[in-house]
Amino acid sequence: MGRLFGTNGIRGRINELTPELAVKVALSIGTYFDGGEVIVGYDGRVTSPILFRAVISGLMASGCNVYNSGLTTTPLLQFSIKTLKLDGGVMITASHNPPEFNGIKVIGVDGVEIDRPEEEKIEDIFFNNKISRRPWNEVGRLREAPNMLDEYIKSIKRNVNVKGISSMGYKVLIDPGNGVSTLTIPKLMTELNCEYDVVNGEINGRFPGRGAEPTPQTLIEVAKIVKNGGYDLGVSYDGDGDRAIFTDDEGTVHWGDKTGAIIEEHILRKKGGGIIVTPISSSKIVEEIAEKYGGRVQWTVVGSVVVSHELKRVGGVMGMEDNGGIMYPEHQYVRDGAMATALMLDAIHEKGMKLSKIISMLPRYYSVKRKVECKNEIKHDVIKRITAKIEVFENYYRKEKIDGIKAWLNKDTWILIRASGTEPIIRIYVEAKSTEEAEGLALKYEDELKSIIREMGG
Ligand code: MG
Repeated sequence: MGRLFGTNGIRGRINELTPELAVKVALSIGTYFDGGEVIVGYDGRVTSPILFRAVISGLMASGCNVYNSGLTTTPLLQFSIKTLKLDGGVMITASHNPPEFNGIKVIGVDGVEIDRPEEEKIEDIFFNNKISRRPWNEVGRLREAPNMLDEYIKSIKRNVNVKGISSMGYKVLIDPGNGVSTLTIPKLMTELNCEYDVVNGEINGRFPGRGAEPTPQTLIEVAKIVKNGGYDLGVSYDGDGDRAIFTDDEGTVHWGDKTGAIIEEHILRKKGGGIIVTPISSSKIVEEIAEKYGGRVQWTVVGSVVVSHELKRVGGVMGMEDNGGIMYPEHQYVRDGAMATALMLDAIHEKGMKLSKIISMLPRYYSVKRKVECKNEIKHDVIKRITAKIEVFENYYRKEKIDGIKAWLNKDTWILIRASGTEPIIRIYVEAKSTEEAEGLALKYEDELKSIIREMGG
């Protein structure tokens, strides 16, 4: 059987994920929801209005009643499903991908993107012509969705010390990156009594500001503004608003596992322990903090959907990703950039220190991330070969094969090599006690991978 879904829904360019295909996909999704109540929203991408209408058509033709949520963030749409007690939802977004991409995310009754076995049910309907087409008098209805923004902000505020944060009058630089977070974050800032300015605030599907993906490399300009403007904090969101990358008051941009560790510590202290769910690519800091505050880490494969489902399964207190995804189950099981922002302000208030100071007190590790191009057809065989090589030649201290190969060369140094779930690339992650060591190891494995790929004719 063919496959439609990647790691985060169905993704493609408009000549691949065409309007015609989107209608057929939506007919399959509508058949899967069996005439249920489904909410549909879209992000600010140029092609989103095309796919949005195609998806609504397919859902209605297969008997689903559709609530039109319009332009929205992914976490707000997910929150709406749960709060309005709907059967599910569809979000048109390609998250942080370049502007020519778009995608379709299917969300279940619990507000979490459906897992692989459920995706297979939709693929079965799609590929084996099991689509249910309803007669004219049984097609679904289209209604406006109620505006859930107030409820959503209330839910976030319920989970932090609003009084404490408000008393500080924090100065925050908000960077939606031309994505849809402009719809939610300014309101949150106002309600937390933060003084804020916005950069890249215009919703623009061409992402002219700094692209749709916030990373230390794309946030160099934002970091300068944070430092020179005397801000307590800078927060940069991805295109659909589910991830947040933080810049500290000194203008240093941090990966999500470092800032996530600060939120982790805050939550573990508040709860007196609990399970933290995070992909195998996250920093060792996550484990150290968990051990220190009576918690433990549950590792998963890389991918937010898996983290959310695992978080729910094990009853964890928090999920986190190195790319800036934070899941706080008391609000919802999915990553949410607005919730992450409020939790970070809560943690800073609780600690009573500047973010740069709090970060400087974390255990110090240096991480390097690299990618090597590799055709999809051979990437899993390349991983097998490099795994065998590491197992034979490296004198490793501990290893995990949850997703690719992660080998600890000693208690402070590890490498992870895994195939991307969405792109024809292999990713290398290294963490070590010095930049030189991390860079050196990344280079070594990059070379090894390139030679294996060459040998295999890639
Ligand atoms: Mg996203």
